[in-house]
Amino acid sequence: MALTPTSEVMYLKGVGPQRAELLAERGIRTVEDLLGYLPFRYEDRIHFTPLREVQPGVTYTLQAEVADGGLVRYRGRAGAIYHLLVRDASGSLACKFFHGAYLEKRFRAGQRIVLHGKAEIDKYRPGRIELVNPEYELIGTGAEVDSTEVGRIVPIYEAIGSIGSRTLRRIIYAAQSAVAGALPDPLPAALRARYEFPSRGEAIAFVHFPPAEILVEALNEFRSPAHRRLIFEEFFFYQLSVALRRRRERQQPGIAFRVREPQIREALKRVLPFKPTAAQKRALAEIAGDLEKPVPMNRLLQGDVGCGKTIVALEAAAIVIENGYQAALMAPTEILAAQHYLEARRLFAASGYGVDLLVSGLKPADKRAALQRVQSGQAQLIVGTHAILEDPVGFKRLGLVVVDEQHRFGVLQRKRLIDKGQMPDVLVMTATPIPRTLSLTLYGDLDLSVIDEMPPGRAPVTTRWTREERLAGVWDFLRQEIARGRQAYVVYPVIEQSKNAESQRSLKAAMVEYERLRTAVFPNARVGLLHGRMRSEEKESVMERFRRREIDLLVSTTVIEVGVDVPNATVMVIEHADRFGLSQLHQLRGRIGRGGQKGTCILVAPETVSEDARVRLETMVATTDGFVIAETDLKLRGPGEFFGTKQHGVLGFHFANPLRDAELLELARTEAFALFENPQAEAALRRLLDSLTPDWQRRYQLAAVG
Ligand code: ADP
Ligand code: MG
Repeated sequence: MALTPTSEVMYLKGVGPQRAELLAERGIRTVEDLLGYLPFRYEDRIHFTPLREVQPGVTYTLQAEVADGGLVRYRGRAGAIYHLLVRDASGSLACKFFHGAYLEKRFRAGQRIVLHGKAEIDKYRPGRIELVNPEYELIGTGAEVDSTEVGRIVPIYEAIGSIGSRTLRRIIYAAQSAVAGALPDPLPAALRARYEFPSRGEAIAFVHFPPAEILVEALNEFRSPAHRRLIFEEFFFYQLSVALRRRRERQQPGIAFRVREPQIREALKRVLPFKPTAAQKRALAEIAGDLEKPVPMNRLLQGDVGCGKTIVALEAAAIVIENGYQAALMAPTEILAAQHYLEARRLFAASGYGVDLLVSGLKPADKRAALQRVQSGQAQLIVGTHAILEDPVGFKRLGLVVVDEQHRFGVLQRKRLIDKGQMPDVLVMTATPIPRTLSLTLYGDLDLSVIDEMPPGRAPVTTRWTREERLAGVWDFLRQEIARGRQAYVVYPVIEQSKNAESQRSLKAAMVEYERLRTAVFPNARVGLLHGRMRSEEKESVMERFRRREIDLLVSTTVIEVGVDVPNATVMVIEHADRFGLSQLHQLRGRIGRGGQKGTCILVAPETVSEDARVRLETMVATTDGFVIAETDLKLRGPGEFFGTKQHGVLGFHFANPLRDAELLELARTEAFALFENPQAEAALRRLLDSLTPDWQRRYQLAAVG
């Protein structure tokens, strides 16, 4: 039977029902799907370095023969180490696999093996060079060696379950041979011509099995025309789906709020306690422009910690309330919700707007009363946490939803809140200054407003990295500051000392340190404790006392990370600072230097820390620029971790990487949106979407245009 691109993978040589099932779990059902599974790296297996010439510090692909191997268990060490010795005509080389018990039966003397890894000096025998945890592949001997294994530039694939790179290479080779050249090309011909992209079939063939004369380094940069085409394609269809979603949302009837009337201008002035910065004015004007239009707003308000986003959101809420609608403000923590609530009450007092707090920690009677007010419309601004999303909450007339610190909310949650109203306008606020290319991917369907200016009178914050041995001096400094009427935070990574986890045993914990600081270190100061496991009334009351200066020194965990605003607090000490993420440190530090007084942030960490931790601490010492910090953090952790979306691939892309391929992303976005907005292109777009196979439609959620 002749295979076509839409044949099931099961019919390929080397793929049985079991492997087909594993592949299906990764969304690979057809031969074409399989060909879309691309290598993440290439190895030059034409030119091998003789073992004798291996130098420490260099990454190699080596070909050798297994000489000897064995498992060794060391006393006091979890997991055994597998030692492997390989040789070639020039000499031999040792390899070490940690937790190597699984390798015990794998190797036999005489097997041919390809190894990939970095050569290092053996710590215990400094004269020797070794590979630690190298990647390896056993290959055939003599005549059985096939061209997918050596003698060419070999693609390396991420394993799918128990299907390793070598097997994947074989079945992909079979797929490629079966349908070579017959792949359909959904990319519009005009685009292909404009960027001189190869056809899809050519690109796929090249990327899996590149010709031998290409430099492996160049391939590993993913910059060949074939790579660029496939990356572009992925971004293009993704952006097309974004454009579609956006158009659908815009076709929904939204609320056209009145924003220009004198009564509304008066109301805005009443709310505003200070002169807004130019950036705040600009952001509000953009938001007001959206509110005025009869389509739902979908806007991201981005600005560094402390730039004053809240007031802009409250102004937007005031417009909506003056129009007879309700506004909801959703915060990621109860403390922050409570703080927004208090601020809103204060600012809205003169206008007499009804403000209500909805968090899960409320007493049942209070909660019932609040729900009642939300339903009747007496509550005009509802501030809360996830509790706002709960089922019993029914709004009378929801006109605006503000989501603070979006990166902690899932898209679904946002949708649920929107579903409660009649297509309310949505404003998402974030303090994470996301590089543009990433915000295009993550928030591709949101418009963007940026506040890139701090309110006047902010004194700078100085940051120091101090060793634990010098803590006594740090406490002296805190005493002086407290004596001058200032307040301070001391932050710990954990609430309680952990009893079992070995790695945490040496971590200081907030509860224990609180007792020690209160009794032994600062007996004459008022010391408070705040952590995430306290009940919400307790948390609120501690925050309120800190705000009223009844507490001098607040011992805390990262619950204060987001949004807490006490301008008189000028010092922050963060213990075990090497344990915190960079963005987290930046958020924490954002709690000080909020008034006119100079702030000091002291990061307590050992002198020698891991390489990443060193970069984090040094970045904190060097800069307070949130953008620089976010970019560094993104580089250190990668986008998946950075945004807490641990998906396969980078933010759900199979092959493209918005960081690495920023320029292609911009191109693809421009092209996708152009195709969309040009009325003459409408027919072309329809043809394009209709021509896509169901697999493509599924992959990019490109259901037929409504
Ligand atoms: P964030 O953007 O981090 O949410 P906030 O809205 O909490 O920042 O504002 C930080 C602090 O700055 C608050 O105390 C707020 O009252 C104050 N603030 C905001 N805008 C201005 C302004 N234009 N002039 C003076 N103070 C301002
Ligand atoms: Mg805020």
